[in-house]
Formats: sequence, structure tokens, C-alpha cells
Amino acid sequence: MATNGKKNHNNKKRIVKVKVRFSWKNFFLYGFLILFTLFLFMGFGSSFESKQTVPLSNVIQDVKSGKVTEISVADTQLTVKEKGGKTLYSTKESGTSIYSIFKDSGVDLTKTKISVQDTSGVSNWLNIISSVLPIVLMIAFFYFIFRQARGAQENIFSFGKSSAKQFNKDNPKVTFANVAGVDEAKQELTEIVDFLKHPEKYRAMGARTPKGVLMVGPAGTGKTLLARATAGEANVTFFSMAGSEFMEMLVGVGASRVRDLFNTAKKAQPAIIFIDEIDAIGRQRGMGLVGGHDEREQTLNQILVEMDGFTPNEQLIVMAATNRPDVLDPALVRPGRFDRKVVLDMPDVEGRKAILGIHAKGKPFTPDVNWEKVAKRTVGFSGADLENMLNEAAILAARLSKKAIDMKDIEEAATKVKLGPEKKRLQTEEDRKMTAYHEAGHALVSWYMPQVEPVHRISIVSRGFSLGHTMVEQIERSHETKSRLLEMIAMMLGGRAAESLIFNEITTGASNDIEKATDVARSMVIEYGMSNLGAINLDLEKRSMYEVREVSPEMQAKIDEEVKRIMDEGYAMATKVLKSLRPQMDKVVEVLLQKETIESDEWISIVGEKEKRVSPFAEKKKA
Ligand code: ADP
Ligand code: MG
Ligand code: ZN
Repeated sequence: MATNGKKNHNNKKRIVKVKVRFSWKNFFLYGFLILFTLFLFMGFGSSFESKQTVPLSNVIQDVKSGKVTEISVADTQLTVKEKGGKTLYSTKESGTSIYSIFKDSGVDLTKTKISVQDTSGVSNWLNIISSVLPIVLMIAFFYFIFRQARGAQENIFSFGKSSAKQFNKDNPKVTFANVAGVDEAKQELTEIVDFLKHPEKYRAMGARTPKGVLMVGPAGTGKTLLARATAGEANVTFFSMAGSEFMEMLVGVGASRVRDLFNTAKKAQPAIIFIDEIDAIGRQRGMGLVGGHDEREQTLNQILVEMDGFTPNEQLIVMAATNRPDVLDPALVRPGRFDRKVVLDMPDVEGRKAILGIHAKGKPFTPDVNWEKVAKRTVGFSGADLENMLNEAAILAARLSKKAIDMKDIEEAATKVKLGPEKKRLQTEEDRKMTAYHEAGHALVSWYMPQVEPVHRISIVSRGFSLGHTMVEQIERSHETKSRLLEMIAMMLGGRAAESLIFNEITTGASNDIEKATDVARSMVIEYGMSNLGAINLDLEKRSMYEVREVSPEMQAKIDEEVKRIMDEGYAMATKVLKSLRPQMDKVVEVLLQKETIESDEWISIVGEKEKRVSPFAEKKKA
């Protein structure tokens, strides 16, 4: 989909060339290798032949006995032809004439033909070449190595010739129809689309034309997708670059890349420039080794300069995305820059249904798949999670050679996306029992608590880091009540309470539960004003970078005290509930050890429907 756009890359048909690349570097490299091999052969040449070499005395002997018909001499090499076609090789000392050798030995040379090749010229040349060539090759070799290194450096300076990905109009188009569950964001962006399509309308009214849009939202909510869709909807060119891509080893590169990106986009307008994950530039103070503060700042400044430099005639929109708006430099969001903010939230149940609808296209499903139910059960899933889930479900169904994806595949895929794949761990019987009681503890406390949703599944199959899991159905709420939060804390601590109750021993398996419960308790105290400290915000972490807020040490001690009190109460409540439900707990554990997983129907058949009762925490409040 994404063509790695060179400048002015017109998206005509792309021809994939099978490249047999000629380059001087390769030419010399291979040339060097070939010549080197040749030299090797030449050098060893004589030793190969020496296998058949006979001593000169033998040759003299043979000549004497009249066997030899012909001797040819080249430098020190003698080739001796004998009667019967045999060929011998021999050597003589250089500088001595063959004639004098034979004469000294008293050989009659009349019967033997002797030819002497004048090799002096050739060997001189060979000598020269063999001494000079290696040097030439060495120089050439280093020259090209050097050139290549310099070339790499040039690449940095040349800003990788706009490494921005460019999506043109005729690419597989993404439009608003491909994005679901973010209707408000789409609504806001329609204005941008309208401006890109009919800029004259806005200019006639003297309206300040929009320049920058900042898209804010958690990961996977479709920020990148929506930016592309905006370009698709407006039918303009889309330049996309991630914030981190601006950063290089050298200071100033980021800024020059920004300049180049904007220049390229200006030539291609109307266009949208999209800077993904802009927090990579927008924050990172004193990042350390490479890049660093200066680089970040220069890059950021360049973006601001470019945006300020737009003339009213420019049909250019800069979009940026981040999931950390809190860390962005305030200069970025001033009027005339990223002054429009589009917020993308995690999809609600209707949104999830719509997103599922988009990604279910092209996949076969059995008729039993109930999208309503899937959407309801996927609370907390982002668009990317949902897409991932359907993909996992499809893989699962394919692996089991099914014809279509069924509800069970989707369930399994959802669990996998949220908790990681099943893990086969070696567990002792004692471990399993411990886990079973732990999970049964969660499940029974949640079953007892009137405001916690019914149990959806309990399992002692380990996944990711967890040994087991208990899932309750989830519904979205616009607000939480204090008593429900306390019920949740009790439920989260139910696992630990069960361990302690049954085994008189506690495990590390509850650490995650404790962490989550503490988070809730802490929020109750410092954010929601739900503790004895009253309605007061004591949240220090939420303060912005430019504001210093402090809490006195006495208050801090009170906060810690309150958090501890809430946790203790939750734990005591969980223990109390589980004590009263001991028979049910044993039964649940028995089934868990046998089947490993209990689904909601079976759960009800074991412990019965959830009973209606007043929240134990609400009672306490009245008293
Ligand atoms: P972000 O940039 O917010 O992290 P992405 O846009 O990269 O999220 O989303 C990743 C993928 O998840 C998208 O390509 C798309 O397939 C899917 N997705 C996310 N949100 C939505 C949505 N609202 N509607 C449809 N698909 C979505
Ligand atoms: Mg993204
Ligand atoms: Zn637990």
C-alpha cells in the first residue's frame, strides 16, 4: 500500500525490476577477486606441474640414450618430448644456457631439436604487473570503501530524500467508511475535508484557515487510520512520517527533514502532512546519548516555523497524533499551530459493534456468531485489539480446519488478545489446587457482591504471566459508586483471601491483584474524594509540567493511612464472604481441577444465580 515515495514519485504503475546492479564498487570487488584467484594459480602453477618434473640429470640421461626428440626451453622451464609421445618437465638454473649444460655433460645434441623461447620480455611484464597490480588494487579497494562510507554519510545529510511515506490519491483508498466508533472525531474532521475540497469558500469569508490538527487518544484507537482516511475523504496527497523518523544521529538533520517534507508537500498540494507519534519530538528533554535536547528542540522549532510560514493560499493541513498529549510542548498547541484537537476514545459497545462489522468483512462466520454479544464482552478493547482478535480467531479456525469461524474461536481469541496465549506450564497438583482456590475466591466474592457483574469465565489455564483468570462480564458505566469500587477491591483481594483461608499460606500469585486493588483504593482517596479525607484532589502525578503542586508530609501520611484502611476493609470483607461460602468454594475447585475452565452457564449450575442483596459496603455506611 505504501510506496516508499521518492520525491515527485508519480504513482504510475509500479514495475518491479529484477535488479542486476552494476556499480563500480562491485566491478572492482569482483575484479579484485578474479585477479587474486588468477595470481594464486599462476603462483602455484609451477608446483602443480612439478609433480611431473624430473631432475635435469634424468633428462640428460635420456638425451644421451637418444629417447628425446625435442626440448623446448622457456626461461628455466624445460619441456621434454620423448619418443612414444611421453612428455617430461624439468627445470634448469636461470642464467645458464641449455646448450652449455648439455655440452658440459658431453651430450650429442644433433638428434634432439632444441627451441629456446625468448621469455625475457614477457616475464618482465609479468614481473612489473605482479608487483604493481596489487598496489593498484589496494588503492582502488580503499578508494571505494571510502567512497561508500562517505556516501552513507551523504544519505544522512540529504535527508534520505524525503523518507516520508507518500500515499497518493489512486492508492487503495481509506475513507471515513473504514473507521468506526469515533463519530465525533469524524465529525470534526469533516470540516478539514471540506476546507481541502473547497478552500475558496473559507477564504471568501475571511476565516482563518485551519492549519494543524492534533489527534489524541490511547494506542490502537485508530489515530493513524483516521488521518489517512481524512486524506482519502478529501482526495488529497498524504505524507506520513513518524516523529522518531526525524531524529538522527546528527543535530540538524531533523530540522532539514522537516523543511524538506514541507517543501515536498507544498509542491503536491492540496495535501495532508501527518506526523505520527509527535510526542517523540514534542517531549524527550535531555534524551541522552544520541539526538538529545538540541536536536529535539531544533526539529520542533522547524515544524513551528514551517507552520507559521503558511500563506493563506496554502492548501496544506498538518495532522499529528499522540497518545501522550500531556507531555507535549505548549508551543505546539498555540493558535495557528495544532490548535484543533480531535479526541479519540476507546470505542463503546456500539462503536465496537461497528468496528467488528468493518473487520469481519471477508471472513466466513458460522450463523451462531452473535456480534451484539461479542461487542458487549469486549469492554476495554481498542479498534486495534478488535481487529487483532478477529484475525486471531480466523487463524485459530484455520488451524482447526474449520469451514467458518465460530463463537468459540472468537472467545478464545479475545482471551488471547487480552491475556496472552495459553501456556503449558509444569505445575504440581498442589500448585493447581492453590490456583483453583485463588480463582474460586475471586469468583465467589464477585458472585456475592451485588454490584459486580456476573462471572463470565474462570480458568486455571495459565496465560502470559498469570496462572489463571477470572473474568466477569463488563458493562460500561458513566460513573462509579463508592460502594461498587469497594466491592471491586474486595473481589480483587478474594484470591489472596482464599489462599490464606484454605492453606494458611499466601503466594506471590496475588501480586497483580494487590497492585490493581491498591490503584483503585488510591484513586478513591486522591482523585475521587471518596475517603475520610473528603472531597479533595490530592493527585500529585497528574500535575502538569509547569505547575508544582505539593502535599504536606502530614497529608501524605493520612493518604497512605486511608489507602491502607480501604484495602484492609476490602480484604476483611473478602475473607468474611469466603468463610460463609466454603462449601461452594470446595465444589468450584473440584470442577476447576477437573475441567480447568468453567464458563458462565456451568458456573450458575454450581453456585446458582447471583442473589439480590444490599451491598455489604452500603450497609456499613448507614450504620
Ligand atoms: P493508533 O494510531 O491510534 O495507535 P491505528 O490507527 O494504528 O491506531 O490502528 C491500528 C489498526 O486497528 C487499524 O489499522 C485498524 O485496522 C484498526 N482500528 C483501530 N481503530 C479503528 C476504528 N476506529 N475503526 C476501524 N478499525 C480500527
Ligand atoms: Mg498510530
Ligand atoms: Zn488473582
